[in-house]
Amino acid sequence: MKEPQNQTEEVEFLKQREALTLLFQNTRTAVISHGIVVSLILFTLWEDVPHINLLLWWLVAVAVAIVRGVHASMVLRRMDEADAEDLRSSNFQLLLMTFAQTLIWGSAVVFIWPEAADARSFLVVILGGIIAAGAVMLSIHRQAFFFYALPIGVPMVIKLGLEGSRVETTLALLMIIFISLMFVTVNRLSRVFLAGLETRFRMQALSRTDPLTQLANRRYFDTFLDNSWQLSIRNIQPVGVLLIDVDYFKSYNDRYGHPQGDDALRQLAEVLTLAASRSTDMAARIGGEEFAIVLPVTDEEGARLVAEHIQAELAARGIVHEDNPTGLLTVSIGVNVIQALPESDRVRFIEAADQALYQAKAEGRNCIIFSQGENNV
Ligand code: GH3
Ligand code: MG
Ligand code: MG
Repeated sequence: MKEPQNQTEEVEFLKQREALTLLFQNTRTAVISHGIVVSLILFTLWEDVPHINLLLWWLVAVAVAIVRGVHASMVLRRMDEADAEDLRSSNFQLLLMTFAQTLIWGSAVVFIWPEAADARSFLVVILGGIIAAGAVMLSIHRQAFFFYALPIGVPMVIKLGLEGSRVETTLALLMIIFISLMFVTVNRLSRVFLAGLETRFRMQALSRTDPLTQLANRRYFDTFLDNSWQLSIRNIQPVGVLLIDVDYFKSYNDRYGHPQGDDALRQLAEVLTLAASRSTDMAARIGGEEFAIVLPVTDEEGARLVAEHIQAELAARGIVHEDNPTGLLTVSIGVNVIQALPESDRVRFIEAADQALYQAKAEGRNCIIFSQGENNV
């Protein structure tokens, strides 16, 4: 949310996480049906297929279903803390698990293929149904469906084709048509689904982004501060806030024009993004030329380092401002860092930072002033 590139990555990440969550939830449901269906097959084909084949096949199928179910639950439990790397590996594991499960369905054609025509029809109907159910369950992930459908479809079509009867040859052809249709549909569905997620997360990101600087906007600042505040109370960790205001910015606009003023604000936003370097820090534009940084789990010393970094980096950029006594664009910074207590007042916390900023202005600008309150740490 700090710059457009990151925003695109964030949207992509959220999209993948949402899709994978849904897929693993589906997996959890699907493995139960797999367990029931393989047991039904065991029961129904008992007289038609060598017992040892049937039992071994059933055992492996149930074992894989259990492993898949446990794996899906574990992945889902960790999904909230997953990073991009975790998602990639979860996706790979999903493909692997799907492939393992369907290899077992495909192997049914070899290991438990019955001689009797009615038993064979039974198995073909089940395998067809398994592919169709997979198309629904995996409709948002076309690669997964590919890995799912082929290991069942290909052996079944070959086996049916080899049997040579007219009915079975027709069935083989029909299977090819059905599976192709499902591929086309899954392809379309997954695209529509992902485009929907893309829109949803992009709108969400836009609603909390300031369009000029791409920093967080005021609304998101309030939400974020609120969360950091609650965490400070719960975890007994300090929370810091920096309020940053550009010095003599009115004269900057008057002298260099509004567009150049906007450009200076964008440069300052870059500086703030660099300074708010921890993944938990958050920089926001909260007013015209007023900015803020929230620093969760940061003490006064840490907040001072961030504030000094901002001033040093801004000075290094050397943005000329002839109406500023220093000759360069500078900022004043008011800081407040406290250990929030259940009885502390969040509004007071920001007001104190604002007073510190006011004092920084009064003391000649281009400086950092810390608020001196009771719970300051
Ligand atoms: P001080 O050092 O006391 O902060 O003086 P200042 O001139 O910066 O303070 P003041 O609040 O009087 O001026 C803020 C100016 O910021 C007014 C306005 O022209 C300018 N400003 C506010 N929003 C924007 C913006 O989006 N773009 C540009 N270019 N200028 C803006
Ligand atoms: Mg101002
Ligand atoms: Mg100002």
